[in-house]
Amino acid sequence: MADKKLKVGGYTKFTSTDYPGELAAVVFVQGCPWRCGYCHNPHLQPRDGTPALAWGELLAFLAGRAGLLDAVVFSGGEPTIDPALESAMRSVKALGFKVGLHSAGIYPERLKQVLPLVDWIGLDIKTSFDAYDDITGASGSGKAAHAAARLVIDSGVPYELRTTVHPALTTRRHISALTRQIADMGCKTYALQDFRSVGCRAQDLIDSSSEGALDSEMLGQVKSRFRHFTLRRADG
Ligand code: SF4
Repeated sequence: MADKKLKVGGYTKFTSTDYPGELAAVVFVQGCPWRCGYCHNPHLQPRDGTPALAWGELLAFLAGRAGLLDAVVFSGGEPTIDPALESAMRSVKALGFKVGLHSAGIYPERLKQVLPLVDWIGLDIKTSFDAYDDITGASGSGKAAHAAARLVIDSGVPYELRTTVHPALTTRRHISALTRQIADMGCKTYALQDFRSVGCRAQDLIDSSSEGALDSEMLGQVKSRFRHFTLRRADG
């Protein structure tokens, strides 16, 4: 039988940047099967290991924050890896919180199951769907991400699709192709964000320049494809 207790890798008590316009706590779910070089939470990749704290303890803490925070965001790792995600979302909703979700779309079936409980989702789009495995190190990852993007865009749930850019991994060609792909799928809200070195264990990526792919011509082209476009600079 599946373990129905969420595996908690960590949490943030308070943030104003992880759910647009809302004050939120963030629950980091332990486990992710992908191995993106620029991952800033590599300690959350292994699924096994001792949880940072029991879900019941964290839920009790969140209950004490009811009325003080607007939302609880489930992040990771990859939160949809956890069979207990749906019940955890129901528990925080019952406390009166909005539910946010950060996902890379690794498990479209579980995403489909929990989407009706989600009030806002930030979905990572790594690169053009045909080039995914080069970043994630996981065979078939682009197919999963494409299915997830389809679900999110069609869901009616407020969302942001976003891409982290390191020019060694995501070139102008990739950005051009992926933004065309998701715009053709109906994506209206999109963000590009610079690679940040905090937490990253790939020294070659930290050492190499994070500038280059996002020049003004590229940005103008991308911006024209979406109704809402955000650029997050590493020094911003
Ligand atoms: S999908 Fe996210 S959590 Fe998983 S390895 Fe990639 S960046 Fe890290």
